[in-house]
Amino acid sequence: MEKLPENLQQLRDKVAVVTGASRGIGRAIALALATQGAKVAINYASSSTAADEIVTEIAAQGGEALALQADVSKADQVDGIFDAVVEKWGRIDVLVNNAGITRDTLLLRMKLEDWQAVIDLNLSGVFLCTKAVSKLMLKQRSGRIINIASVAGQMGNPGQANYSAAKAGVIGFTKTVAKEFASRGITVNAVAPGFISTDMTSGLKSDEILKFIPLGRYGQPDEVAGMVRFLAADPAAAYITGQVFNVDGGMVMA
Ligand code: NAP
Repeated sequence: MEKLPENLQQLRDKVAVVTGASRGIGRAIALALATQGAKVAINYASSSTAADEIVTEIAAQGGEALALQADVSKADQVDGIFDAVVEKWGRIDVLVNNAGITRDTLLLRMKLEDWQAVIDLNLSGVFLCTKAVSKLMLKQRSGRIINIASVAGQMGNPGQANYSAAKAGVIGFTKTVAKEFASRGITVNAVAPGFISTDMTSGLKSDEILKFIPLGRYGQPDEVAGMVRFLAADPAAAYITGQVFNVDGGMVMA
């Protein structure tokens, strides 16, 4: 992805943190924010080579990025991300809570550890990162928090009781924090993807699924990243908070 000329960049001099940015949707979001001039922290759990490659790709376009390993489901690892970013760039303008996993199985077979692992990362990780960044954003009196939810949190999906509960939780969390932070210049929104082609969905593709997608195809990570880039942009998205934006080929029509 080419970095835009400076006069066209909507995130020039902004600093963004993207969790789970080594692969898939998070990677596309990190690259999309960088094309708009943002300095981007690439958080990952274990894919250090992939994260380093993104940093190199952004640097090759004249941008700045930093790879930061941390398991965002662990309270004692989260603060380190934000401390490192502030030490390097002095501020944080955008947080994208993207890191997520699935542990799919029908409820009757679901073990407590399958439930817990998904809630810990997909919901508690969002809480931990938002709390960590909020002190800084409240002091700055500005910020954009964008949470990656899912259509599963809106319509349910057999085999995903843990994942659907976590993602529905993310939507409720988004609306509450949007109300708590609105008077301080911080917006909080959620993006709910449908079926996007990434490692997470690589084993799930079938003609059966396509029947539920009005646009008749799976989405691409860049298509989710486009919505996140818009929500991060100033002033374009300044008057939007507490909303859920579906990027799902029409799966959910409210
Ligand atoms: P993915 O390709 O499996 O990538 C997951 C990313 O999360 C990787 O960068 C991974 O890092 C990171 N991650 C995993 N565990 C982590 C942890 N404990 N701490 C920090 N990072 C961690 O997934 P994806 O499809 O891009 O999904 C991204 C987000 O979109 C998730 O929240 C997912 O629920 C949501 N979503 C996806 C779809 C879809 O169809 N793909 C649909 C709706 C919503 P490593 O590489 O180091 O493991």
